[in-house]
Amino acid sequence: MTTENRHSDALALPERYRRFWDEAAAFLPPERMMCDPFRTLAFGTDASFYRLVPKIVVKARTSEEVRRLLEVAGRLAVPVTFRAAGTSLSGQAVSDSVLVVLAGGWRGAEVLDGGARVALEPGVIGSEANALVAPLGRKIGPDPASISACMIGGIVANNAAGMCCGTSMNSYQTVESMRLVLADGSSLDTGDPESRRRFAETHRELLDGLAALRDEVQRDAALVRRIREKYRIKNTTGYSLNALVDFDDPVDVLLHLMVGSEGTLGFISRVTLRTVVDHPFKASALACFPDIEKAAIATQRLKGGPVSAVELMDRASIRSVEGKAGMPAYFEGLGPDACALLIETRAPDAATLRRQADEARDLVDGVPQLVPLAFTDVKAEYEKLWDVRKGLFPAVGAARRIGTTVVIEDVAFPMQHLAAGTVDLQRAMHRHGYDEGIIFGHALDGNLHFTFTQDFGTSAEVARYQGFMEEVCSMVVQTYDGSLKGEHGTGRNMAPFVEMEWGVAAYGIMKRLKRLLDPKGILNPGVVLNDDPHVYLENLKPLPRAADVVDRCIECGFCEPRCPSREVTSTPRQRITVQREIARLRQTGEDPARQQRLAEQFRYLGEETCATDGLCATACPVSIDTGEYVKQLRAASWSGVARDRARRYAGDFASLAGWARRGLGAADLAHAVLGTGLMSALSGAARRLSGDRLPAWNPQMPRPARASALGAAGAGRERKVVYFPSCLARTMGPARGDPEERAVFEAVLSVLDKAGYEVLFPRDLDALCCGLAFDSKGFREAGEAKARELEGALWEASRGGEVPVLCDTSPCLQRMRKTTDGRLRLHEPVEFIHGFLMDELRFERQPGPVAVHVTCSATKMGLAEKTRAVAEACAEKVVIPAGVGCCGFAGDRGFLHPELNAAALSDLRSGVAGCAEGFSTGRTCEIGLALHAGIPYRSIVFLVDRCTSPAR
Ligand SMILES: Cc1cc2nc3c(=O)[nH]c(=O)nc-3n(C[C@H](O)[C@H](O)[C@H](O)COP(=O)(O)OP(=O)(O)OC[C@H]3O[C@@H](n4cnc5c(N)ncnc54)[C@H](O)[C@@H]3O)c2cc1C
Ligand code: SF4
Ligand code: SF4
Repeated sequence: MTTENRHSDALALPERYRRFWDEAAAFLPPERMMCDPFRTLAFGTDASFYRLVPKIVVKARTSEEVRRLLEVAGRLAVPVTFRAAGTSLSGQAVSDSVLVVLAGGWRGAEVLDGGARVALEPGVIGSEANALVAPLGRKIGPDPASISACMIGGIVANNAAGMCCGTSMNSYQTVESMRLVLADGSSLDTGDPESRRRFAETHRELLDGLAALRDEVQRDAALVRRIREKYRIKNTTGYSLNALVDFDDPVDVLLHLMVGSEGTLGFISRVTLRTVVDHPFKASALACFPDIEKAAIATQRLKGGPVSAVELMDRASIRSVEGKAGMPAYFEGLGPDACALLIETRAPDAATLRRQADEARDLVDGVPQLVPLAFTDVKAEYEKLWDVRKGLFPAVGAARRIGTTVVIEDVAFPMQHLAAGTVDLQRAMHRHGYDEGIIFGHALDGNLHFTFTQDFGTSAEVARYQGFMEEVCSMVVQTYDGSLKGEHGTGRNMAPFVEMEWGVAAYGIMKRLKRLLDPKGILNPGVVLNDDPHVYLENLKPLPRAADVVDRCIECGFCEPRCPSREVTSTPRQRITVQREIARLRQTGEDPARQQRLAEQFRYLGEETCATDGLCATACPVSIDTGEYVKQLRAASWSGVARDRARRYAGDFASLAGWARRGLGAADLAHAVLGTGLMSALSGAARRLSGDRLPAWNPQMPRPARASALGAAGAGRERKVVYFPSCLARTMGPARGDPEERAVFEAVLSVLDKAGYEVLFPRDLDALCCGLAFDSKGFREAGEAKARELEGALWEASRGGEVPVLCDTSPCLQRMRKTTDGRLRLHEPVEFIHGFLMDELRFERQPGPVAVHVTCSATKMGLAEKTRAVAEACAEKVVIPAGVGCCGFAGDRGFLHPELNAAALSDLRSGVAGCAEGFSTGRTCEIGLALHAGIPYRSIVFLVDRCTSPAR
């Protein structure tokens, strides 16, 4: 994206926004300000079913920047919405004004008091916070199902909860202090007495206003009773009014009001939470009851018992997963009214766990059950039980008609009404034609989610949704005095119903609170409180058909943290969102100029900078591989001439590999003659002159692999293996200056020799390649031709799959698994060493830490633990830095778009501090890793070779 383009987009903004842009541009760098069609749409998307496109998106990195943004926003009356991970479901993280995104920063975290407390910046992902305190036997209280994607800012601002946290361990109950930036740009650290004192001086009026509201509420005994009653069950409807009855000091009131305020009362720049115990011993049981009433009785008995979670699943929920792999066979025989409870108990030791499991079983003993209740503490078994629960949402997502949205609603009933409320919900869903809908949720807290698919494409369908929601809201509130939002936040979705749930007096207090803290109404207006009774039916998000491979995407955002391009261009969700919009514009014929502009921008922001590693699929609840989608788009973009050329290259692969080796040799010679500095400068200049078409040179560029004889070795030995050195391994040797002179295949041969193997090679090795290099660029036919050729050669060399096959490069091996005959016994290097060589070699651990990088393909093949085990057999300390996923080098992307690799590995250098060398299983990945870690990276086989001798 050029500066001119960015500038012309800014010129087209409405006057007020142009002034905002200009003023913000005085203190924000241009790359953190966006108003172009691609990025406003992409960043504007969250997990809800609302679509608002911001006029301006800014990435703020510091509190000072937020302070200045709020100051400008206040002066120009420009509304501002904060965004953490955008996994919200109720429309609270979208805006048609200015979106302030936390991306790329705010990751600071400090463990305090031996893990009893943790101070976190708002961009820390929930699971990262847990990983920090887990070694100390602690975790944060809030436990939303989205915890691997959502961030602390959003968790606290939504008062998110989950299966175990209930009403006693949520952010409201566990918050200790916050650093805040308020609407007027002022700052307050509630944990710092000096900051509180200063704030009291400068904000007397505000604090007096809070004290007056506190007194008014506390004087009204009926209101106090109502507030206390409402928070006995989970409740995130409206503001946290309990702050006004639980606390006296107005600063403490403010601190607790911020929890669940959804960015409408101020910005949270740091929060300190008290952590809770994370017991290491767990056991689970699946109980099945003849009907919901019996399940509710069992839940009531379990409440207060030694259980940490009780998850309810109605018959429709069970039906949505029955018959699928891993699901209990008896599901299919359950009666039409059956209801299941998944019960979990946790304990500090095995004996307590057993006692608790017995106690829980005794508690539900008298309640009729369809299958005998049995707890298991075997990880594989209880994980299977939890797979039932985890499979529910994807099952509805996968079954939905393309174009429809999956709606997840989130209500809570007082415990005594759980059974009747669930039955009424089931009836309402059927009455309104939501026959595919399912009900599940956190029964211990009376918190139920009901999920159904909804078409928002026609007014009749919107009216059906309206009728259903109106009925549900009045049933939950008027019949059962429940909560309309148990944990997902009010957003735009429930804003029109807050008064209905809370009553006139409480609603009036909420409005006055908002006016007090945000008098100009610039903070996320329309969220939590909204005077428009139909706001929940407006700005509904279209989900048009784009391509089979991505049509099931629910835009949840779970994939985003895995994506190496998330900080530099776009994320999987954003790629899909933009392609959906392009498809919609194409289908409707509306705004061809916008369609063209989005397509143009997609080329770099979506397509060229996708590493196509597919790591996104590993986090996706509906298993979408956006990398595969991008490959399809690339394939569709090639001309016949380009495809023919690729086929020709594939057909004469040996020559191509020869050219590559000679090219590397020439570059290495130039490097030797010119030195690193001059070579970098000259190659950089040449690349710039070519309009970035020439590959980027870097000092970690490999030298050509030594032309060593790759002939059969160890003839006549009993143990045999077919070794397929990938084309990368055959071409790329170590980098200049690396003390290791050998190519990876030499290390492999050495290890195999020590382990007593006869090594066989496939015929015509020089011409062989798995086809990944072609396929990832979208040359599908050329890739397929190479795969067939390799399959034939391996079939022959392995005697029809009898002899195991070893490939030294994980990405190639992973592709071979997908593209070749399943009878071939294919092994990745770590897998082969772990499975076949551990007993054949004597390992001697080397001192000092080594860094290890698990490639995306190894991750997807489930080899992370084996990689660690092999490395730990070789080195006293193994460092696998947290938060470093896909390296973004992706074959040639690291040469063509080095910024992708740089962004993906921006945390690597600090993560491997103290390590002198690193190891992995992909030669091109190792180039980028070495470049950004500042230490050499090589195949893990070198480490194994160095640390082993023959066992016999
Ligand atoms: C499939 C799925 C399952 C889910 N399961 C659960 C669940 O089990 N329990 C649950 O509670 N929720 C759940 N959610 C909803 C959502 O994931 C959580 O509420 C989550 O905490 C939102 O965090 P976020 O980082 O995505 O925040 P965002 O969506 O980015 O923002 C949330 C709100 O916080 C505000 N905000 C963000 N940062 C700040 C800040 N620094 N200061 C002030 N305001 C800020 C935003 O303006 C917005 O109003 C689920 C969502 C999905 C898609
Ligand atoms: S691709 Fe999957 S994980 Fe990503 S937003 Fe879509 S559904 Fe969610
Ligand atoms: S394939 Fe990789 S780079 Fe592409 S969208 Fe998925 S995670 Fe991101």
